[in-house]
Amino acid sequence: SRVWNFSAGPAALPLPVLERAQRELLDWNGSSASVMEQSHRGKRFIAMAQQVEANLRELMSIPDDYVVLFEQGGATQHFAQIPMNLAREGDSADYILTGHWSEKAASEAAPYVRVNVAASSKADSYLHMPPRETWKLDPSASYVHIASNETIHGVEFHQIPDVGNVPLVADMSSDILSGPIDVRRFGLIYAGAQKNIGPSGLVLMIIRRDLLERPTRPMAKIFRYAEQAANDSMLNTPNTWGWYLAGLTFEWLRDNGGLTAMAECNRQKAELLYATIDGSGGFYHNPIDPPVRSRMNVPFTLQDSRLDAAFLQESEAAGLMALKGHKALGGMRASLYNAVPPEAVQALVDFMRDFARRHS
Ligand code: PLP
Repeated sequence: SRVWNFSAGPAALPLPVLERAQRELLDWNGSSASVMEQSHRGKRFIAMAQQVEANLRELMSIPDDYVVLFEQGGATQHFAQIPMNLAREGDSADYILTGHWSEKAASEAAPYVRVNVAASSKADSYLHMPPRETWKLDPSASYVHIASNETIHGVEFHQIPDVGNVPLVADMSSDILSGPIDVRRFGLIYAGAQKNIGPSGLVLMIIRRDLLERPTRPMAKIFRYAEQAANDSMLNTPNTWGWYLAGLTFEWLRDNGGLTAMAECNRQKAELLYATIDGSGGFYHNPIDPPVRSRMNVPFTLQDSRLDAAFLQESEAAGLMALKGHKALGGMRASLYNAVPPEAVQALVDFMRDFARRHS
């Protein structure tokens, strides 16, 4: 009776995760109380939190010299907190602009670091990635920032760019856990939870330990990643519910073949949808340079935008939820995160073909 959910975020969660959370809601872990009602200082919660981190470390092969933090504030807060922690006043950082979110990361960082836009595809409406050989990186920058996947514009880095010895910082909010990555290539990875991890209100961070020792500026403890790490992300009350649900998602990933299996499944889902768009004889259109198309977020337009309202109304009636595109781009967007099963994408492309046939 549930709909197929293509929302960009907060997004679909795996059904087995929701079912387990429902089963455990009133009596978690033999405590006769909900996980939301447990003290974060209690033995039960701490044991769970440690297990969740251990499971994530195994899933992503996170090396021991990286810390894992379970933070709050959304990815947006960390657009500002990252320069606060990685740069001193007057230092510069390189930003690669590939869409809305990397642009926002740069503008929110600007009060705390000298932002150098080392590359940008804005002039071409973010339809391509700026080729690596054109990036004007500064070897003395505090870090290089990218958004590995642009949720709104639908472009994704399929290879981790080489940025030399400067730490690479990546906003992975919308493609974390979609496949294996080499954590060692990054100085800092961060991701809002509400796409591939769990409910909003939790931000996962993976930080190379030596970066926590950088001299910074005076700031409240709550903003300092080194303090958060020293206090196991419990400097204050953490998002206990989000932490628990993230743990259920990590177990679901492990039990379903881990990130290698997830990558193959995501590749097939995206291929099917792009093939349907490209094979529609122009009825549907995705403008992104094919080698950098996102596997997670697929924006597309209808050739005749007067059909948009009918497309949305009929798709919703067919049990396909949240296909309306972001207001910045219009048209449609289908987000194909881990929790969207192949059957959902099959249902979507069946609907799209039928709609095109009826309205051509
Ligand atoms: N970065 C990316 C790539 C996103 O897609 C989003 C939200 O959609 C954000 C950052 C902002 O996240 P939050 O709403 O958690 O601050």
